[in-house]
Amino acid sequence: MNCRFCNTPLTNTFIDLINAPASNSFLTAAQLNEPEAYYPLKVYTCHKCFLVQLDEYKKSDDIFNSEYVYFSSFSTSWLAHCKQYVDKVSAKFSLNEDSLVVELASNDGYLLQYFKEINVPVLGIEPTANTAAVAIAKGIETVTDFFGVRLAETLVAKGIKADLLLGNNVLAHVPDIVDFVAGMKILLKDSGVITMEFPHLLQLVENSQFDTIYHEHFSYLSCYTVKQIFESQGLELFDVEELPTHGGSLRIYAKHQQNTAIEINERLTYLLEKESLFGIDTVEYYNNFSIKVERIKLDLLDFLVTQKKAGKKVAAYGAAAKGNTMLNYCGVKNDLIDFVVDANPSKQNKFLPGSHIPVFSEDVLKAEKPDFVIILPWNIKEEIKQQLSYISEWQGKFVTMIPQFEVF
Ligand SMILES: [Zn+2]
Repeated sequence: MNCRFCNTPLTNTFIDLINAPASNSFLTAAQLNEPEAYYPLKVYTCHKCFLVQLDEYKKSDDIFNSEYVYFSSFSTSWLAHCKQYVDKVSAKFSLNEDSLVVELASNDGYLLQYFKEINVPVLGIEPTANTAAVAIAKGIETVTDFFGVRLAETLVAKGIKADLLLGNNVLAHVPDIVDFVAGMKILLKDSGVITMEFPHLLQLVENSQFDTIYHEHFSYLSCYTVKQIFESQGLELFDVEELPTHGGSLRIYAKHQQNTAIEINERLTYLLEKESLFGIDTVEYYNNFSIKVERIKLDLLDFLVTQKKAGKKVAAYGAAAKGNTMLNYCGVKNDLIDFVVDANPSKQNKFLPGSHIPVFSEDVLKAEKPDFVIILPWNIKEEIKQQLSYISEWQGKFVTMIPQFEVF
């Protein structure tokens, strides 16, 4: 495999998680009797541009299909984050009824709804038909398609150009990141701005967040590498913010290179310096990651086997992609964890891919009273802890594995 940005042959393994089924392919009871497809899950570091990347083992149009079950509106803390963002950027960039906000991977309209509330015109672009249908039902105009140069040219031909072009957790999810960024260059007005949020590679490495690695997550991004990719397409970063979301994300701001009306914020310089101090542009930085990850695997297995022998009941909360990577890499099946609870009805009464652990509604947790509840989406740990605080009534305890194994 060659680097998807700079085309350098990839020789450095970042981590080999061996293989896993597609992380969002929840199974029905009937599907448990069928063979299950596993795909390799090996991540490389490019020693030239330091893009950490996964090969397109599973084709992206196979992942983002009509069966896609990730609806952004199910997390209340995420919605609050988006509302805050809308208030901030609409004031900062003076967005009004004459502006156009285009969101790439607009999902179920979880974010654009807030622009709509303040009468800023919006257009969503979303490849998964079932989430797009939810947005359209909310009255949010949505194009159901994959974004890149082809779609950008089609939209521009119709007279559509964006004052604000945004994308949350999409830059890492596109297999052809160069075509995606080139498309943004085309769709952006001369005076327009881009904001993109993505999990920060620095946090992934520092906090052992290996469970954010799954097949729909093709790139693991630093500001250092994103800056190079944007510059290669005539776009320039002018600001960056560090956010607590998804275990530590970056929100980058970009503009056309020729737009000199916007000044470069010194926060960008500081962040690039910070990344450099950690060594993000050196091969050595990535070397110890596998050892830290193996430690987590051994701690989890040790815990589960001990509880099983003691006759304790262990459940988990949050049937998200993260959890599936964790459980599959650790080799945990439905004999060690009884069930998983999730608020999303489209996942309930199905089974996790690979581990075949059943997914139920929260009522089952209250009825079964497990001794331990493993919080799989550790990034919303506080929210879940509060929501499930009643497990203390039966001396239930919580467990998390990232950044290290912990019972509390
Ligand atoms: Zn490269």
